[in-house]
Amino acid sequence: MRYEMMLPHQIREAIEKNWPVVLPLGVLEYHGEHLAVGMDTLAVIRLLAILEAEMDLVILPPFYYGAASYAVEPPEGNGSLHVDAGTLFPFAQAMFKGLLRIGFRNLHVFIHHQTENFAAGMPTDLAFRFAARQAIFEFLEKERGEGWWGNEKMADYYAQQAAGGDPFNWIKAHPLMTPEIIGQFPFDHAAQGETSLMLALCPEGVEMGRLTDERWYTRSAREASAELGGRGRDLILAHMRNVLRPAIG
Ligand SMILES: [Zn+2]
Repeated sequence: MRYEMMLPHQIREAIEKNWPVVLPLGVLEYHGEHLAVGMDTLAVIRLLAILEAEMDLVILPPFYYGAASYAVEPPEGNGSLHVDAGTLFPFAQAMFKGLLRIGFRNLHVFIHHQTENFAAGMPTDLAFRFAARQAIFEFLEKERGEGWWGNEKMADYYAQQAAGGDPFNWIKAHPLMTPEIIGQFPFDHAAQGETSLMLALCPEGVEMGRLTDERWYTRSAREASAELGGRGRDLILAHMRNVLRPAIG
């Protein structure tokens, strides 16, 4: 379900049944002459739309305004839109606090942009991951008071952590492509992998006739195909189901 279309009784049901609530997080960034600038975010959105048809899921309005960076190309006439991570952090913290206040305890963020080394992190995901941690600490302290963790009621904290009941699991961030997927499908920028994913998920955002060999990073895009993209799509969907399903009661 799309959050913006939900009625309060549906929101209450989603809270009660602990449905996953997912934020598609991404950027607007130059992806060569042949791909739409929203690629990283569009991929997340289109994959979630497939999952929405097969499981109970709340999809939040996507956030496109991440820290794209101008590492690939300068923005003038190219379309990259960069908002620095320091600016994103207070926004994300307030948003997560608000979502916790509503009652959601099974929040997920999926991001594709700059996620080839997700454990170390990059500005957009780090800002949102840091904000999620801060929001949870602040929420718990407000709800339960200082000393909440040391309270006798928390004696099973470490056991809960293994079982998934740990409050720090209330908000989780995931790369769209795990290291296992990257081992089986090309991770790149606007090249064979991303172009194939777009051909499979969002063909209206691709104009292969505009592809040029000018930039090193798009050269392998010539070998892109919807068929390869379909294989990537299925690998990613399996990972997303794996992450979202265990929590469904
Ligand atoms: Zn990309």
